[in-house]
Amino acid sequence: MFAQVALPVPLRNLFTYEVPATLKAACQPGCLVLVPVGPASRVGVVWELSDTPVWQEGTIRPLLDVLGEGPFLNAELRRLLDWLARYYMQPIGSVVTTALPGHLGFHRKRRFLWQGKPVTGDLPPALLPLATALQTRKGGLTEETLARNFGRTGLQGRLRQLLERGLVAVEENWQPRHRTGATPPEVSSPLPSPTTQTGYSPVNDAPDCQGQPVNDTPDCQGQPVNDAPDCQGQPDMVRVATAQNGQDGMNGQGRTEQNGIPGSIPERGPPLNAGQVACVQELAAALAAGIYAPFLLEGVTGSGKTEVYFQAVERCLQQGRQALLLVPEIALTPQLVARYRARFQHTLAIFHSGMPDNKRFAYWQAIQGGEARVVIGARSAIFAPFVRLGLVVVDEEHDGSYKQEEGVPYHARDMAVVRSREVGAVLVLGSATPSLESLANVERGRYRHLTLSERATGAALPHMHRVDLKDPQVRETLASGQLLSGVLRQAITEEVTNGRQVLLFLNRRGYAPSLLCRRCGAAITCPNCSVALTLHKQRGGLLCHYCDHLRPITDICGVCGQMSMAHLGFGTEQLEEETRNSFPGIRVARMDRDTASGSGRLEEILEAFRTGSIQILVGTQMVAKGHHFPNLSLVGIVLAETSLWQPDFRSAERTFQLVTQVAGRAGRDRIPGRVMIQTYDPAHYALQAAANHDLSSFVATEKEFRREAGYPPFRRLILVRFSTPVQEEGERFRRHLKETLAGEQEARILGPAPAPLFKLRGWFRWHVLLKETDTGSLHAAARRLLTQAGKLTGGTRIRLEVDVDPYSFF
Ligand code: ADP
Ligand code: ZN
Repeated sequence: MFAQVALPVPLRNLFTYEVPATLKAACQPGCLVLVPVGPASRVGVVWELSDTPVWQEGTIRPLLDVLGEGPFLNAELRRLLDWLARYYMQPIGSVVTTALPGHLGFHRKRRFLWQGKPVTGDLPPALLPLATALQTRKGGLTEETLARNFGRTGLQGRLRQLLERGLVAVEENWQPRHRTGATPPEVSSPLPSPTTQTGYSPVNDAPDCQGQPVNDTPDCQGQPVNDAPDCQGQPDMVRVATAQNGQDGMNGQGRTEQNGIPGSIPERGPPLNAGQVACVQELAAALAAGIYAPFLLEGVTGSGKTEVYFQAVERCLQQGRQALLLVPEIALTPQLVARYRARFQHTLAIFHSGMPDNKRFAYWQAIQGGEARVVIGARSAIFAPFVRLGLVVVDEEHDGSYKQEEGVPYHARDMAVVRSREVGAVLVLGSATPSLESLANVERGRYRHLTLSERATGAALPHMHRVDLKDPQVRETLASGQLLSGVLRQAITEEVTNGRQVLLFLNRRGYAPSLLCRRCGAAITCPNCSVALTLHKQRGGLLCHYCDHLRPITDICGVCGQMSMAHLGFGTEQLEEETRNSFPGIRVARMDRDTASGSGRLEEILEAFRTGSIQILVGTQMVAKGHHFPNLSLVGIVLAETSLWQPDFRSAERTFQLVTQVAGRAGRDRIPGRVMIQTYDPAHYALQAAANHDLSSFVATEKEFRREAGYPPFRRLILVRFSTPVQEEGERFRRHLKETLAGEQEARILGPAPAPLFKLRGWFRWHVLLKETDTGSLHAAARRLLTQAGKLTGGTRIRLEVDVDPYSFF
């Protein structure tokens, strides 16, 4: 028997190992195994088993051990990751690394043992102390002990040198961070088998999201599923689960009437209004049916979407199923997390990106064991090992942070669509400002549309004023270098005098985005990136927002030698300074990545604002995220078009969303709210529509632009990026690639052209953008491009990256 094993290494392939006779019984698909890789060992996941080896060149080594008991990764999750790897064109190893906890929950203990003769003088001096220490310990020394005594810096390199010289041997021992031997529920109590065979990628079976299946049938498709039930959520299972719980939420017996919703559960929140009731009714019916049902819940800011989610979750729990709530940036919304915690205490697991591996593991097991019933988390929670997933909520579905940019690019909302469909779960995409992609799916009849058009507290949407910064009368009130116009100052004064609170939003941190010479015009740029360094007065330095390069502030121009440096433009730090100076005696605070990065700092600021000890809060888009401040009556948007200037076809959409979301913080409770939008471009359709609370007029205009320019949701995109630290090598590669692409007809290909951010962290970057109407030809075009590019990269330091459905075009 042979095992195809996925290893957490950035390689496209699965690795073939022989399963020794003694391990045959224990080795099942989804199990964790210890396998030899070169001279070392690694923990991997068995993807599939076969009688003949899939890989036939060279020697096949036996795997070393099966870890734990039973599958670690069920078939459903393996198929999801397979789908991701194929659709996003990423190596399966990288996908496993991204989706699963580090080292698959094991950590490696290494012990180094001296093998050689006594230490002699011909060892490089840097190795001598290490060698001496090792030589004098008979039982060897562990990696930790060595790190404690010799420091971590350079340790690995020195150990490698000793290993290569054959002077030391290493013993590896992988220890679990989690309970071994715990039997996952799919083994101990198999769920009924699915009524229909599901698979993540049959041809022509399009998911409803951006993500469409790739046209090639994968190798591992259609393999008989012998290890576990591969699908939950079909009606049969739901009925079984419900009956077992002795509860009834759906079949009509013993129903209670509350809010007019059949089988309603006692509420712990406010009584729902009619709009919310209508939404919950639809969701309850879909949950009762137990099949995939996608919804777009479009609800204005403060319309009580969260209460609707709560009700849906409770119903899902009644059915004995699990619920997943995805939020864009969990660390930024402690208030929201607290609401969920208050509601679902004992059954809640919170997935945090900063969570240590062992904690992530405890949750992994609790979810797999079914003890954790509600999971709230940011995008990576979409990979949690649910066994009975019944409901997936994607809150603020339009939010760009659902797209992972680094490493393996994937879109968590789109993965949520795919996963819900495969397990037969109800999916709710919620937002006040839905993405054009999701609205297009409503139009195509793929999502059902739910709307909440009024605020739940009975408050009106805020009054929106645009302040034209070109207007001479407005300009008169702006002293040179100032950011707050007379009308905005006046409004701030009124609100704070009346004991109310103000939020000032500017989407740019730091003091000023550049420092340049007034004589020769030279700006101080980052040595690693093609951007100007941002002036940060408080840190007393010039900082690169891409690579964190920091250098001291200077008065002297490095180019012409004159004492003539001046800052240009402004950021939140400067806004805070001006606000403090303009409103003496008023308590002002700033919330951006610089002030809110320490642990607990963000919560402190939010709490201080909520309790009123801060009267004016200045901040970046961090302040726009779902917060609820009852006493906040005025939002000032200091320069609305900052987000319009990005080299990106979504910049208008993002601006509309940002303005609407930040405006939505005003007047959410009893006090009426108003919003002042300062801009040089008040007639811009995104700002006009936001000012009129008019999503549909924005969408209508934006759609026309997208259709004409050939962008999503009308076309699909793949961005291929190549980069290299050697500029000439990149230029040469670009020329060759351009020649090879000359005959390419089928897909529309833009580029190769230098990326807008040409140099990033020392790498020069070029883009090729592929556009197509259907995913099949788009993927095919990308594969051809990658094959051709791959041939050209030989012997160069060119790195190729693929981004399917790209969101970032820098
Ligand atoms: P959204 O998520 O749509 O922005 P929230 O769910 O945060 O809105 O609700 C906004 C506020 O309205 C919250 O303070 C919430 O407690 C309150 N709320 C929600 N539903 C109701 C209701 N039916 N009656 C009164 N208040 C409600
Ligand atoms: Zn930089």
